[in-house]
Amino acid sequence: MMQTQLFINGQWVAPVQGGTLPVIDPATEEVFHHIPAATAPDAEAAVAAARAAFDHGPWPRLTGKERAVYLRAMAQGIRDRLPELARLEVRDNGKPLPEAEWDLGDAAGCFDYYADLAEELDGEVEPIALADGRFTAKAVREPLGVAVAIVPWNYPLLMASWKVAPALAAGCTMVLKPAETTSLTALELGAIATAAGLPPGVLNVLSGKGSVVGQALIDHPQVDKVAFTGSGPVGSRIMAAGARDIKRVSLELGGKSPFVVFADSDIEKAVEWIMFGIFWNQGQVCSATSRVLVERALYAPLLARLVEEAGKISIGNGLEPGTLLGPLVNKGQYDDVLRHIERAVEQGATVACGGKVAGRGKGFWVAPTVLTDVPLTADAWVEEIFGPVVCIRPFDTEDEAIALANDSRFGLAAAVMSADDARCERVAAAFRAGIVWINCSQPTFTEAPWGGYKQSGIGRELGRWGLDNYLETKQITRLVSNDPWGWYIK
Ligand code: NAD
Repeated sequence: MMQTQLFINGQWVAPVQGGTLPVIDPATEEVFHHIPAATAPDAEAAVAAARAAFDHGPWPRLTGKERAVYLRAMAQGIRDRLPELARLEVRDNGKPLPEAEWDLGDAAGCFDYYADLAEELDGEVEPIALADGRFTAKAVREPLGVAVAIVPWNYPLLMASWKVAPALAAGCTMVLKPAETTSLTALELGAIATAAGLPPGVLNVLSGKGSVVGQALIDHPQVDKVAFTGSGPVGSRIMAAGARDIKRVSLELGGKSPFVVFADSDIEKAVEWIMFGIFWNQGQVCSATSRVLVERALYAPLLARLVEEAGKISIGNGLEPGTLLGPLVNKGQYDDVLRHIERAVEQGATVACGGKVAGRGKGFWVAPTVLTDVPLTADAWVEEIFGPVVCIRPFDTEDEAIALANDSRFGLAAAVMSADDARCERVAAAFRAGIVWINCSQPTFTEAPWGGYKQSGIGRELGRWGLDNYLETKQITRLVSNDPWGWYIK
């Protein structure tokens, strides 16, 4: 079953203006469903519901232990429906089924993790030592209010969970706006919330266009916080919209992350992690290590092995067993990625392997692509491609590798591989990036902070940092002295 209505105040309702958006399977180009297209009046209703649930409902006033019960029920709700939800994500997004199953297991785990953190909030009081003995002070943390989550299409329910779970754990209420290309499982989260007994208005889900309902949500004066994952330009709009009302904003944007491989690395391990770093999820990963720098002595043999192995990756419908690389998410992304490859060649790059997949008929297929001789000023080296396209180049010294790695307006992730631990630590310390992997690329853990330096974003998700995004800090100061204050002298 697939939802056809919006989830507002615990009810399924048709969008006020009645619009829909087609849902297209990127492997077949078949329109297999239509989702509701929310507009400004629906945003108004959802924010009003979230506002009422926060201002007058039980949710922010429950103990963390009580909220944890609902979060765990939502985790179980995802697990109970995991096979069905995973297939929906494959049809919506194109990714291979085992990857969708992995994502949904992580989404459930995220709800369980923040259930534990909700419990730890109970009774959390931090005494503040004051130099002035006439006063005592303490700090407490409280939910910050109504939060809006706007998420992209690359990990549909997982990106939503990274925001919904900590927001609910903190005691906030939320309006979730999934990407218009991949809204099916986010809408199902409404059904999962209902089954978990979540009070009405605590979670609301609006599918629809970013430029319409997304914009209405980020402009809404009754919204206290916007949590966003997606592109830089939309991130800028969100900051600008938030500036008017001093909304809290956290942004997870793009990247052009480097992977520095030293010559003492095991070549087979390097090839495996380079491929996972850029071909997993068809390369549609904000932290994808899309610029690979290899110490010159290893460069030629590593490139040869990489091209050989990249050519063996099985491309197919994500529902077919054995598929490692599915289609790109939609026509727009497909056209963009192919344009990037063409432009890279115009700007001097060589395609060592990959490009458009010929002869597959319908579907948005791009083969694992390796680009060499990419000038440092070429778009392919500088801009996020968000597809299975890696640029690879040699370097001579550690200093040169660090300089090349950090020469980017982005700073989301970076990776280093070497048999020399001290060198790995040195390079890890020198990277200007929020996420650093040593001897691997991409493994992501709910417990560890996630977010970028520079234009890759503001704030951190996951771990205790993810909960901080949805909490305000209050100081409570008490006068304990009976002495006169002495400001007003009669
Ligand atoms: P996007 O930024 O356009 O969309 C992300 C979300 O923002 C979607 O839910 C969209 O509906 C919403 N949105 C769009 N315009 C909005 C507006 N004016 N107000 C409020 N919300 C709005 O990203 P996309 O179209 O999904 O992908 C475009 C590019 O973004 C990709 O090519 C890639 O470079 C980048 N991207 C990054 C990530 C990441 O995880 N960092 C994920 C997906 C995409």
